Amino acid sequence: QFHMIKYEDLRWSESLGQGSFTRIFKGSKIDIRDGERHVTDVLLKELDANHKNCWESFFEAASLMSQISHKHLLLVYGINVMVQEFIKCGALDLFLKREGSVSVSWKLDVAKQLASALNFLEEKNITHGNICAKNLLLAREGDASQGSSPFIKLSDPGINLNLMLLTVLVLDRIPWVAPEVLEAPERLELECDKWSFGATLWELFNGGQAPLQGLDLERKLQFYETYKQLPSSEWTELADLISQCMNYQPAFRPSCRSIIRQLNSLITSDYVILHAAEPLPD
Ligand code: ATP
Ligand code: MG
Repeated sequence: QFHMIKYEDLRWSESLGQGSFTRIFKGSKIDIRDGERHVTDVLLKELDANHKNCWESFFEAASLMSQISHKHLLLVYGINVMVQEFIKCGALDLFLKREGSVSVSWKLDVAKQLASALNFLEEKNITHGNICAKNLLLAREGDASQGSSPFIKLSDPGINLNLMLLTVLVLDRIPWVAPEVLEAPERLELECDKWSFGATLWELFNGGQAPLQGLDLERKLQFYETYKQLPSSEWTELADLISQCMNYQPAFRPSCRSIIRQLNSLITSDYVILHAAEPLPD
């Protein structure tokens, strides 16, 4: 599915701001297929000039994404400039903040889709390393209030954690990054994505707010050093799944199969019963 895209076949339009190490633009790519001119909206991600030293890692993230294909993984068309499919509804965290009221079954759908992407990566023995709500793109909104299905795609992992300054790692990546990785970045293994999945699940069920937001460097470090857990949900089965994923001992985190099984047994009606006495928050 990967093929060369010529630079002159790309059109750059408005800036969509900056990523961690990148500058992001909307654009389009033009290709001629069967003698016809096709224009596709794309997202162009370019390594920021200040981070030229991360080139190899950027290239790696782009080529990884362009080599694997799954319905819940973002399509990457080109890798010198990362040319990705453009996802209209954008990132999940922003969507959740904007939308306010999103049904529980909608959130469960998103969680299951992410789990299926994770399972796919696990089978291929690929660690993603940067799973968070910001990196889940909403290809289809569904009707959040009526519970019709969303469709998400996991974006690229970006620059390798090894290349990040410790302060940035602590401030930007706690609590998504698995604690063992903070001690030794080379310990980035499959289990680490389970931890991140737990943190992402927490975000999903907390309106897209970043967990531990506002804590300074010291406090964030302390959080891990004292083996703390995120504030737990009243929905005990959900809280339990999150804390299984965010187990400080990597070996005890659940397998993808177990995650999927548990998600399937989280029945929306349980949640409704739990909150029957009060108006539904979501
Ligand atoms: P990181 O490597 O830390 O994930 P990044 O360079 O990928 O950083 P992000 O912060 O993940 O940058 O993305 C910035 C914003 O760009 C997102 O919040 C989202 O709104 C938008 N965005 C990213 N990818 C796409 C895409 N494929 N389609 C549409 N919007 C996107
Ligand atoms: Mg990203």
